[in-house]
Amino acid sequence: MSQATENVRVMKFGGTSVGDADPLRRAAELLCDAQSESRVVAVVSAMSGVTNALIEAATSAAAGDWSAGARLTDWLQCKHSRAVCSLIADDAARRELQTEIKLLASAAGRACDRLAIEERICSRTFDFICSTGEKLTARLLAAAVAARGTLALAVDASTIVVTDDAHGAAEPDASATRARARLQLLPLIAAGVIPVVTGFIGATADGAVTTLGRGGSDYSATLLGAALDAAEVVIWTDVDGVMTADPRLAPEAETIPQLSYAAATALAEAGARVLHPKTLRPVEARGIPVRVRNSFAPSRLGTLIAAFAAA
Ligand code: ADP
Ligand code: ASP
Ligand code: MG
Repeated sequence: MSQATENVRVMKFGGTSVGDADPLRRAAELLCDAQSESRVVAVVSAMSGVTNALIEAATSAAAGDWSAGARLTDWLQCKHSRAVCSLIADDAARRELQTEIKLLASAAGRACDRLAIEERICSRTFDFICSTGEKLTARLLAAAVAARGTLALAVDASTIVVTDDAHGAAEPDASATRARARLQLLPLIAAGVIPVVTGFIGATADGAVTTLGRGGSDYSATLLGAALDAAEVVIWTDVDGVMTADPRLAPEAETIPQLSYAAATALAEAGARVLHPKTLRPVEARGIPVRVRNSFAPSRLGTLIAAFAAA
């Protein structure tokens, strides 16, 4: 049975936009405000710095560092628990979240221990470790939304995004992903729940966790947007949209108000990190607009990427 989803908006939050308790609170507020106008699906990155730390720990472990796993577990637990203490006032909800953090952080640490025993890089274990950041943030953001009185559920994209087994740069199977996304997410959406889906990750058909490549959460967001026939995809980031240059390097850079899919793809392929180069592939054929906006300045319009005639 097909269900109408034309009113769904997919909203993706990048690493800085979920990088601490305050930005997480702001992301939750943006989601709740959006949910009062239309249905919303959230896609999250890991907190900024977390994916780098996961890769470093896995690399050290694979080089024979036996303590990398334990150090990683402690660090992940400490970083995410600090945010939880500031975000969640309810004792029971906080305890439940702390338990989930502990389980995920321990699983990542144990996977590092396995790499240390084998003393070699196993790309499958690597991807499992790297998927931990997004799994943690999805739970934190879902809890932050729930704390505002809106229903939300963390969803691991490994149960939705079906990919090949090219670990580290996996390619999604769009039609299998569409079927799973609709099966899993539409009932939640219809029940008024905001699914908070992990960006960056997928899984092979036989269930091995994969990752889509660095910065791949943007791609996750448009894959889900296309799968759900969403009205739009919003990429919330830490700058005012796609700009004429990287504003960190060129302070005079200006926001580009509108871009065609082709022009935005060309900028991303030329290295504008604000968008993963594959971001526009899933949405272009369906004409789904993508907005790139600043989660720290949500009143600004950002950049609208749509089927504009190329300049
Ligand atoms: P997120 O974690 O939200 O995905 P990223 O760090 O991946 O954010 O991308 C946003 C960053 O991209 C900005 O902070 C900016 O420094 C960089 N960037 C590079 N080129 C551009 C550009 N042309 N326009 C906007 N941002 C750019
Ligand atoms: N967390 C992943 C990375 O740092 C994916 C993303 O942020 O889009 O590459
Ligand atoms: Mg990014």
